Amino acid sequence: MSFFKTGKPFIIAGPCSAETREQVLQTAEGLAPLGIDMYRAGVWKPRTRPGSFEGNGEQALQWMLEAKQLYNFKYTVEVAEPAHVELALKYGADALWVGARTTVNPFHVQHLADAVKGIDIPVLVKNPVNPDVELWVGAIERFEAAGITNVAAIHRGFSGYNTPVGYRNQPNWPIPIELRRRRPELPIICDPSHISGKRVRIAEVAQKAMDMHFDGLMIETHINPDEAWTDARQQITPAQLGDLLSKLVVRDEFTNDMGVQVQLEYLRQQMDAVDVEILDLLAKRMELSEKVGEIKKTANMTAYQPARWREMIESVTSRCDITGLDKELVIALYEKIHNESIRRQLQILGNAGIEIKK
Ligand code: PEP
Ligand code: MN
Repeated sequence: MSFFKTGKPFIIAGPCSAETREQVLQTAEGLAPLGIDMYRAGVWKPRTRPGSFEGNGEQALQWMLEAKQLYNFKYTVEVAEPAHVELALKYGADALWVGARTTVNPFHVQHLADAVKGIDIPVLVKNPVNPDVELWVGAIERFEAAGITNVAAIHRGFSGYNTPVGYRNQPNWPIPIELRRRRPELPIICDPSHISGKRVRIAEVAQKAMDMHFDGLMIETHINPDEAWTDARQQITPAQLGDLLSKLVVRDEFTNDMGVQVQLEYLRQQMDAVDVEILDLLAKRMELSEKVGEIKKTANMTAYQPARWREMIESVTSRCDITGLDKELVIALYEKIHNESIRRQLQILGNAGIEIKK
């Protein structure tokens, strides 16, 4: 059993940064009655721009150790360099976390993995800032190869230029889902604070993570969030965290309730039958598309015709009002279908291998 799988969501809470001894101890005092699994704070802060608060370093580790001893907490800090690992271990850290800006760099990750070799401390690996599941898996594998038996992933969202309104980092849920598909046993913890960037959305993102069967949450908690030196807008008080946790609906992947199982089975059989129909229709559509390709070849016409593509998108999306299907989903689906159709027609025209990008 993994250190991070306790049978209930693994909760990590604490301030973004360890600012002062009082702030670290008062926040810990506020969290103590909530029964969290681990206290957190950044003592070395990776800041986007120079000149801002970069953490209190070794001094802050002393405060974390005090909080650990006073409230019987386990605690974790972010490490980005082997020297950080050495100091964190010296001050009794119970787990190390690797930040999103470090996970992107295999050199740094390998240096950290080398630094923990032979010390079996749990390691939490945040997703890289870019939406690259390979890089995330690669970082996890480096720690596993170094002999770390308790590795967990933290989903904290991804940087992007067009981040949807209301989020600080794009959640890009398919990426942690892909990670789960590849590594079903790996615990995945969600960090709704960095995904949402705003207090008001934390509960909603946390609940979504529970609905998707994540193993825990890392939530930034501060005794006085408005006065926080870093990430002030996304930190909540220990009382607000208590409220959030009490309202969290934790779901199971499976049920022993036979009645529910029968209902699910009935619906799933119908869905499976519909899937067979969808695939048969798709195959039929491709056959028609190939016939069109033959005609285009005889008439010396191009496989890709932008006007036809626009017409098709208009026609299929116009049905969204009737079907209730999401427009973006329909467009994404038809992009795939159309690409495949063009690929087949190109083969007929004798230009196999040319990729069409819209
Ligand atoms: C943090 O947890 O405070 C932090 C710096 O996170 P991230 O690496 O996700 O930006
Ligand atoms: Mn933060």
